[in-house]
Amino acid sequence: MTRLSTIANRPRWRSLALLAVCLAPLLWPLQHLAERYYGNELISQNRQTLDLYVANLLGTLHRYEMLPQILSDLPALRAGLVNPQPLTQDAANRLLKDISQQTGADVMYLMDPSGQTLAASNWDKHDTFVGRNFAFRPYFIDAMAGRLGRFFGLGTTSAKRGYFFAAAVHDHDRVVGALVVKVDLDRTETLWGKTPEQLLLTDHNGVVILTSNPEWRFRATRPLSADEEKAITAIQPYPTRNPKPLIINDKAWITQTQPIDEVGWSVNILAPRVLVDRPVRTVVAVGGATLLVLMLLLGLMMQRRRHYLDRIAFEAEGRHELEMRVIERTSDLEGLNSRLKQEVLEREQAQQELVRAQDELLQAGKLSALGTMSASISHELNQPLAAIRSYAENAEVLLDHQRTDDARNNLKLISELTARMASIIAHLRAFARRDRHAPESVALQPALEDALALLAKRRRSMEVELIRDLPDATLWVQAGETRLRQVLGNLLANALDALTEKGPPRKLWLSAEQTAQGVNVYIRDNGPGFTNEALTRAREPFFTTKTRTQGLGLGLAICDALMRALDGELVFANHPSGGAVLTLRLRAGESGISLQPPEDLSA
Ligand code: ADP
Repeated sequence: MTRLSTIANRPRWRSLALLAVCLAPLLWPLQHLAERYYGNELISQNRQTLDLYVANLLGTLHRYEMLPQILSDLPALRAGLVNPQPLTQDAANRLLKDISQQTGADVMYLMDPSGQTLAASNWDKHDTFVGRNFAFRPYFIDAMAGRLGRFFGLGTTSAKRGYFFAAAVHDHDRVVGALVVKVDLDRTETLWGKTPEQLLLTDHNGVVILTSNPEWRFRATRPLSADEEKAITAIQPYPTRNPKPLIINDKAWITQTQPIDEVGWSVNILAPRVLVDRPVRTVVAVGGATLLVLMLLLGLMMQRRRHYLDRIAFEAEGRHELEMRVIERTSDLEGLNSRLKQEVLEREQAQQELVRAQDELLQAGKLSALGTMSASISHELNQPLAAIRSYAENAEVLLDHQRTDDARNNLKLISELTARMASIIAHLRAFARRDRHAPESVALQPALEDALALLAKRRRSMEVELIRDLPDATLWVQAGETRLRQVLGNLLANALDALTEKGPPRKLWLSAEQTAQGVNVYIRDNGPGFTNEALTRAREPFFTTKTRTQGLGLGLAICDALMRALDGELVFANHPSGGAVLTLRLRAGESGISLQPPEDLSA
């Protein structure tokens, strides 16, 4: 997180500004190139304008240049000089006017040798030249000397700028005067029009004679020499004798000059530098803007790239963190897993040890039980043996009295008892070996009768009242023939044992009922009932409280084990009105069906 924020805070705009400063000098060559380009464009354009203007000016001048010489041969004009009569002068005036109108010349006039104007095309105007003397003008002097007179000057009468051409008028070989043609130059100035470029036409003195800027008119572009000043004073070409200096700011104007050698003039076009500066500024601005846009795009790209890199770094960090967490979690889980495995192993070992211990304990218990088996057998067999003895003794007496049928009956009973004894022994053996026979359907009532029969004599001697509450219909239970009789016999014997400890009346209740779960058999006596200790411990093997009868403490233990083997239950409790109640909970068997063959008693 710290690393990311450092990246984000990096001053990238500073580096962009630095880049801009580095790139800014690129604008200088751009400006230079633009200046060169637009300067050249302007110059070539103005060069054409200049050429045109010069050609136009020279064309105008050339048109009138030869006119004085040609016109001087006209007799009517010559007559005006040779014979200066009003008539001839009037004729000359009219002719001059006609010709000047046809040729477009400003003024044409005739001067006599003294410089006096005798006839003029503007004879009828208020500012007529007629009667004026222009002997001071150089064109007159040149003409009188036989040369072509040429001169620029401001008209002293008209105040109009003009170019003068003059030629001598001959009468035979004699010079009788001069003919002058004045060309109006004001018009060539107005022809220039209103353009940003300015026209500047200077004469041989460097004085501005034609210009598109009225303020510059008749101003000296260079200092005048003394001779020039003297000449100016003499011939008065300008409205002033001391032309003021004109200083052109080279920085503000681009000047192009073309000399007109023929007249000693030079034509200048002054283009304001702003004409170049403006497009150059535009180009530089566009260039700068383009550069700026490029910079911004670059900045944007850099920003996006940085953003992208930041995101990649962030994602990589996240991924790394996730991987680390997964690795940590995996190692935790692996640790946990190996601990669990270890625990499972330990538990399995403990389980095995427990099973082994239980096995050993069981075996020890069995051996211990077997150790006392002889005593137990004697206990279990004691009663049938006693019965057999009494039947035998009884049979002896019956045989003495020739009651063979009764004696046979006794013998039969003895035989049954021995069979039962064998069954008991088998059962004890089976118990010791933990052999199990599959449960079968056994009729409850006959088993109960058998058990009672075994104890009948003892019960009678003890005067125990038997109260039966058994249903007429046979109750079928899941049990083994022998095991059920063994259990019932044990419980009944216990009841009689308990009743021996009590005086009459002695009562024994026998009842049974069919329940939803199976069949319940209740054996109740009105003896002393279970002691508190016996209630908790009676299931333990060899637990006995009996002193008067010889108790082994095996009866209930065996009964409980047998009942559990039959999937039933043995419950003992005390009755509220005294005495013990033993309940046998058995599973119901299918009526009248013995699924298994009778138990193998010899097993
Ligand atoms: P034993 O009969 O050899 O004592 P049992 O396992 O049959 O061994 O009985 C254990 C003990 O349970 C007896 O010693 C006696 O205290 C008690 N007991 C059994 N049946 C009765 C009964 N019907 N009334 C009172 N106590 C009984």
